[in-house]
This record gives sequence, structure tokens and C-alpha cells, in this order.
Amino acid sequence: MSACIPIETAQPRPRRSAQARIVWGPRVVTVGGDAPVRVQSMTNTDTADVIATAIQVKELAQAGSEVVRITVNTPEAAQAVPHVREQLDRMGIDVPLVGDFHYNGHTLLTQYPACAETLSKYRINPGNVGKGDKHDKQFSQMVEAAMRWDKPVRIGVNWGSLDQELLAQMMDENSRRAQPWQARQVMYEALISSALQSAARAEELGLAHEQILLSCKVSGVQDLIAVYRELARRTDHALHLGLTEAGMGTKGTVASATALSILLQEGIGDTIRVSLTPQPGESRTQEVVIASEILQSLGLRIFVPSVTACPGCGRTTSTTFQELAKQIDDYLRLQMPLWRKQYPGVEQLKVAVMGCIVNGPGESKHADIGISLPGTGEAPAAPVFIDGEKRLTLRGEGIATEFQALVDQYIRDRFGAPA
Ligand code: SF4
Repeated sequence: MSACIPIETAQPRPRRSAQARIVWGPRVVTVGGDAPVRVQSMTNTDTADVIATAIQVKELAQAGSEVVRITVNTPEAAQAVPHVREQLDRMGIDVPLVGDFHYNGHTLLTQYPACAETLSKYRINPGNVGKGDKHDKQFSQMVEAAMRWDKPVRIGVNWGSLDQELLAQMMDENSRRAQPWQARQVMYEALISSALQSAARAEELGLAHEQILLSCKVSGVQDLIAVYRELARRTDHALHLGLTEAGMGTKGTVASATALSILLQEGIGDTIRVSLTPQPGESRTQEVVIASEILQSLGLRIFVPSVTACPGCGRTTSTTFQELAKQIDDYLRLQMPLWRKQYPGVEQLKVAVMGCIVNGPGESKHADIGISLPGTGEAPAAPVFIDGEKRLTLRGEGIATEFQALVDQYIRDRFGAPA
């Protein structure tokens, strides 16, 4: 027999970044350092519509978003910010709000102090803070507002709004190289330089190093990986990670999961957002669900109980097991806001819903509670496994309801407070 060594479990590499604090009242969300990777999201309501915005922020927070960004683009939006906050506080939603500023952020943060005070963090896009002589002045005004109100900022560079003067200057320099870089490489360098130069300028103005987070978003998976690897190599600022304009549905989900997973596995990214275009009628919360699933799949965070279900095959010609898997998954998610308080640790629960005898009993034994439904031609009986042991067999029309009741009972027994 050839000599071999035990195979280690794959694990994300650690990267220690400076830790920022995003604060609202007693709620403190730490980002970077030894904090867990945070889930962020952004509303798509008109911020001037206080009620619509507050409702959507509440939905995003309840879905698991730990920080929510809102657009602050007009005087009306800036005036609405404190009222959105009041509505949220009244509803018991303490999620910190981040203001997303472009073009006129310096004016809004100066002329609407209640807005500046209420927001827990500002996003500044260095490509959209004014051109020529105005750039430095307007950037300084925003940083000064952050210092006045003791807020962290994210310097959020985006290739769709990259500082064109900086890019033109770097293209010029490139043309003078003996061996010019490819245009794409110059663009990568311009994105990173824009973020790092802006961060250095903010520190010169007096903003604390750890109060500065950075992002350099692009919409191509390989571009994002290249840019963030280099950004992480050059700085210890906490990094906000996301694929910008990821797209809709499956495409946006897969592209975001692919890019973010590779970087998170390398320890790159302290907070993430999935920039998904919602399908018509789809809830905005889908971007939070996907971001959470990415972190949970990588073993970086645990948010909700996991349901292991097989894909089904020619041995499952009925839809019973698909329906049961969906029913259990939906039920667990629906109950989580309540269960999180009532049953501490319930998010660790593992449930299996399997389609037939081939892998059903084995996979069910690995779960805390699992059911192996009968495949085509098997006896109409569904053995249930609890803590690795077969405990009982369900039969008949009520299998789904009875299994859900068993899951409820298991949660009460294991995670409920002792009587
Ligand atoms: S467990 Fe059974 S039904 Fe499910 S994929 Fe495997 S063989 Fe098919």
C-alpha cells in the first residue's frame, strides 16, 4: 500500500484587514479584522418615498442584510433619510443605513446635517465627485462630513464610472512605456489607483485608516478576481466585494457566486453584496438570500438550517419528494426570524429530504433529521432518521405534514430552553 497522509478539509485562507465599525445606536456592525464576512444590500425605492423605503429596508434586514444602502441623490432624498430612520426605529429595525452619493454628495452632506448624522456610513465614488479643480474640494467636503459625524466611508470605485482624468493620464503614461500594457491592464491599475489614492487623500485629511473601506467593482468574473487579488495585496483596508451589474436570474446568481467564492476562499472580502437585477415581481430580498447562501456554502457563516435534497432521477417519477423538500426549506426560512430568538443555535440544524433508497438512508443518517421517501416501485413507506438512527416509518397521504411536525419537535427538544 502506498504511503499517504490524511487529507485536510479545504478552508478559506485568513486575511487580516483593518476593522471598521458601522454604528446605529447600540447596534455596532464590525467589518474587517476578525469580524465575520457581512451581508449588505441596497434598496431600489425612491428614498424620498419614506414609507416605501422603510418597508423595503425592513424586508432586507429581516432577510438577513446586516447593512442596507439607500440612494441619496436629491434634496428630497436627503430630507427623507431621518424620517426613514424614524420609521425603522419605530418598527424595531436597527439595521445601519449607508448613504450612496454621486455628483452632489458634498452639497447634500453639508446642507442636510440631519441626513449626515443619521446615516451610519457614506459611500463615495471618486469617479463621481466632480471634475478638474472641483474634484479635490468636493471630495474633501465629503470626508470632512464623515469626520464631523464620526462615520466610516466606503471609497467605492466602479468601472462604469471610473475617474476619466486618472484613466486618461494612465493611458498616456502607458503609451510612453517601452512595452505598453494591454488596455485592460491599464484599466485594472486605474481602478486600484483611484481607490488607493482616494484612501490616502482621505487619511491626509484626517479620516482614520480603519474608517475607510474600499471596493473596485467590475462586471466580469475574471476581471473582478484579478482586480481584488491585487487590491488585497496592496492594502489592509477592509474590502467590500461584489460583482457590479451581475445581471438577472440564473446568470447573475451564478456569476456572483463564482466570483465571490473564489475570492472569499482566498480570504479576500470583508463584506459582500450580490448586485442582482430582480426578475419582474421578484422580491428585492433575493440578493440577500443569495449572498447568505454563498457564505453558508463556503462554511464562512451559518444563517439558516440547511436542507440536503437529492436532485431526483428516474427512480423518482412522482413529485412528492420535490414538494416535501421545498415545503421544509420554505418552512424553515419562514420560521427563522422567530426561531433565532426562541431556539438559539437552530441555524446549525441539518435536515435531509431524499428521493429513494439508493442514497436516502445514508444521507439521512448524516443529517440531524432526515427522511428517505419511496422511489418508484419501492414499498410506500418513508423511514425517518433522527441523530443517525432510524426511529420510525411514515406512510400514507400525510407524510409531509407528519415529517414537518417531527422537525418541529426535534427543534423544540434540542434547541428549546430546558423546562
Ligand atoms: S437518492 Fe435516489 S432518487 Fe435521489 S438522486 Fe439518488 S438515486 Fe435518484
